[in-house]
Parts: sequence; structure tokens; C-alpha cells
Amino acid sequence: MKFALVTGGSRGIGRAICIKMADLGYNVLINYKSNEVEANITSLLVEEKGVKSITIKFDVSDKNQVQEVLGGWIESHPTYEIEVLVNNAGIREDALMIWMKDEQWERVINTNLGGFYYVTKMVVTNMILKKYGRIINIVSLSGLKGLPGQINYSAAKAGVIGATKALAQEIGRKGVTVNAVAPGFIKTDMTDDLNEKELQTLIPLKRFGLPEEVAHVVGFLASKESAYITAEVISVNGGLYS
Ligand code: NDP
Repeated sequence: MKFALVTGGSRGIGRAICIKMADLGYNVLINYKSNEVEANITSLLVEEKGVKSITIKFDVSDKNQVQEVLGGWIESHPTYEIEVLVNNAGIREDALMIWMKDEQWERVINTNLGGFYYVTKMVVTNMILKKYGRIINIVSLSGLKGLPGQINYSAAKAGVIGATKALAQEIGRKGVTVNAVAPGFIKTDMTDDLNEKELQTLIPLKRFGLPEEVAHVVGFLASKESAYITAEVISVNGGLYS
């Protein structure tokens, strides 16, 4: 049984990615932190595509939970193979540096960057042994350009970009590719508090993107045919920054 594991698959971009993985024929392991209702909705949408879906609750920023819950799942399902990993779970907690609380720094770094590390560590060894795998990290325009009010988030996403490029070089010869997708402004709960009317004037395509438009690129990178693309960062930002 081949699975795609999508962290933060309960809502937003993660949900669209889960559905895209199902379109590719993968069974989907849908991670979420607390929102069981939304995770179950994603699960239904995935199963409508005729594949299996399993929801799995753990906090990607908590090393012990990742080891116990995800590690436990992997151990108790020796015939299930995680062939695609999408590190999508993320949070933002914006504040100018002078006002930023240590906890805001720590939470954002631990979730976005720590989460990448803890989850990838659990699944990468099996990919190497099987000599096949696709790891796709959802980063951000903020990690490429740096955005004021987001030193925590920009640092975390830039960190994941660096790790993407390094890991790609470590395991390329094992048939595992590692790439990142960097969205600009995408319509989800995360951007609900932003002034879309004002911000869209800055975007060449004059609108926020849709989760499905990010998922499309993730699907492309996850496909077997993308075997010669690794260590790349692909922007999906309506031309806002290149
Ligand atoms: P949402 O806020 O809509 O959804 C966040 C998802 O992440 C939820 O599924 C949530 O689970 C999960 N999550 C949050 N923290 C944790 C955690 N500690 N452990 C496990 N799961 C967690 O976000 P988006 O869909 O907008 O963002 C998805 C990714 O895309 C993030 O990495 C984000 O940084 C990135 N991104 C988003 C942009 C945008 O404009 N929306 C732009 C650039 C990048 P639950 O439902 O249980 O809370």
C-alpha cells in the first residue's frame, strides 16, 4: 500500500494537496494538529477519489509526539509505504522584531522548521532503503524575500529552503527527490486577516491564489515523471516576486 503523508492536511493548502495526492492514486495519511472535524472532511474528499485515507493527529513541532504517533504508525504498518511526504503544516505569528515575544519566535520556528526535521527524519530512511521517494516542502515567498513583521516565519521558511537543498544533495543518488514550493498570498484561513483588496494591487495577476493552484505544483513534483527535478524551489505567487 503506497501512501502520501501530508502534514497539516486538515485545511487550506494541505487539504487541496491531499486531494491531489489521491488524484495521483496515492492512499493519503492526513496529519492534523487539533481540528478533527476538518480532518474528517478532507478524509471524505480523499475517499471520494477511490483511495484509502487515514487521519493521524500529532503536533509536528513536538518531537516526542512525532516519534510516538507517526513512528508508532509506521512500525505497526510494515506493509504500508510512505512514498511521498509533503511537509505542509505551518503557522505564522507576526510581530515586528522589537515587539516579538520569545514564545512567538519559538512556536513559529519549532512548527515550520522543527516540524520539517522531525517528520522527515521519521520517513526518509525507508525512502532511501526503497530507493524511491518524493519530499516536497511548502515554504513561502517570505522565506525567499523576507517580509517585515515576519522575522520568525521568514527565518523558518528560509531554513527549510536551505535544508531542502542540502537534503536533496545527500540523498539524490538514492532516487529520492527533495523540492520546495513557495506560495505567495493564497486564500486560506491563514490569510483571512489580511486586506486582500489592498494587497492584490501589488500582485501582477491581481488576485490571491487558490490552494488548488499550489497543489497542482505539488502534484507535478510528486509525480514519477519529475524524477530529474531536485533541490528546486518553485514559486506560486502570481508574479509577486521572482
Ligand atoms: P491554514 O492555517 O489554513 O492550515 C494550517 C494547517 O496546518 C492545518 O491543517 C493545521 O491543522 C496544520 N497545523 C498547524 N500547526 C500544526 C502542528 N503544529 N502540527 C500539525 N499540524 C499543524 O494554513 P495554509 O493552508 O494557508 O498553509 C499551509 C502551508 O502553506 C503552511 O506551511 C504555510 O506556512 C504555507 N504558506 C501559506 C501561504 C498562504 O498565503 N496561505 C503563503 C505561503 C506559505 P489543524 O487544522 O488541526 O489546526
